Amino acid sequence: MVSEQKEPFVIRGKLFTSLDDGENNEYLYDDNGVMVVNNEGRILFVGSTVPDEYSHYKVVNTQHLIIPGFVDAHVHYPQLPVIASYGASLLEWLDKYTFPEEVRYGDRSYAVARAAKFLALILEKGVTSAAVFSTIHDVALEALQVSNRDFGLNLVSGITGMDRGAPDQLLADLPAFKEINQKAIERSRDIERFSYAITPRFALSCSEKMLDYCGQLLESDQSLLMQTHINETEDEILATAALFPKVSDYLDVYASFGLLGNRSLFAHGIHNTKLEYEKWAAAGASVIHCPTSNTFLGSGLFDANGYISKEINVSLGSDVGGGFSLNPFVTMAEAYKVAKLRGQVLCPLRLMYWHTLGGAKAIHQEESVGSLAPGKYADFCLVDITSDDVGSEIWERAATVQDKLFSLMFAMPDSKNRIVATFTAGILRWHDKIQSGL
Ligand SMILES: [Zn+2]
Repeated sequence: MVSEQKEPFVIRGKLFTSLDDGENNEYLYDDNGVMVVNNEGRILFVGSTVPDEYSHYKVVNTQHLIIPGFVDAHVHYPQLPVIASYGASLLEWLDKYTFPEEVRYGDRSYAVARAAKFLALILEKGVTSAAVFSTIHDVALEALQVSNRDFGLNLVSGITGMDRGAPDQLLADLPAFKEINQKAIERSRDIERFSYAITPRFALSCSEKMLDYCGQLLESDQSLLMQTHINETEDEILATAALFPKVSDYLDVYASFGLLGNRSLFAHGIHNTKLEYEKWAAAGASVIHCPTSNTFLGSGLFDANGYISKEINVSLGSDVGGGFSLNPFVTMAEAYKVAKLRGQVLCPLRLMYWHTLGGAKAIHQEESVGSLAPGKYADFCLVDITSDDVGSEIWERAATVQDKLFSLMFAMPDSKNRIVATFTAGILRWHDKIQSGL
């Protein structure tokens, strides 16, 4: 499955990447582009012609579209087995399906098997970076980290903090949480391509003391990120207001404990007040839009323009298992549909940007991942645009790059996976042996 490719190489084919300007949807597309990768898995050059100094490198020609690997900026690896659990609102769904499954991750061998399965599946979908929720158990996080040695993904994760509102096996009181969390942070510092995120699950599952500790930790260590949930459903907002009566809104719960800043990743953010958008923008925090989860759980319709107008960084997440698909093209298509239901139109270039560079910005790694540019990791995937008749015809007919990308989101083959190969740091980590041509 894994080829430890350490030779420098050139890959040539149709090539697309967003460029570092979310506002104007700038991009690079070349029908016969080249990307040069060095023996450390970094990109040396992207353009039309291989520079002379790299002309002796091995050339891989592909008929497929070369794009940056996707960033899934919000996903729960222990929830993969509860994907598509029938008919429940968020809070009921957590109690009925999710928490009982998460309890099982206290068992190391179960967690290792599930982590490996999860990582294999996201690689197959072209995801090369992911901000992942684990559980309260250190063995669950460790399972993810150990399993990733075989997959080479760029991961962000942390111990999921909970001290109330869930079964006892998923709770840790503050002293216990501090101990597990600190141990996990120390271990994580030595792990390549792993960043630690303080992860209070959401306000309903955390006491004031726990949130306070998380905020102090975030403030004291600039290398840490923070990920959590906010304003997902109206029931959740009401319950949160009842638990935290002194603050003015949901975002203020996090702000009052020092958890609102530019290293904060907030998933959902559907039912924001006007003031919340303003505070969000002023803090430089990112939102992770999880459209398949929002439609599946009936949580609500994300207001893309609310964020765009305030220049808040937006990225996309599958939010599996609330979300029903790990496939980034499905997530982008669903985001488009959600916007349409609000009377808004999202350009496919923007959707691609959100799912690559937007995600990279959310995890503070836009200097090293999220697009195909010199100096960055060669994290990329190959997209099949030729094997199914309908899709290839639409691709050829599409007059603009926007139209071509749009066709990839909506003219999906029955297999629902257009990705035929995924590379991280220049190494082929997964491929469809028949379709990839590799
Ligand atoms: Zn979530």
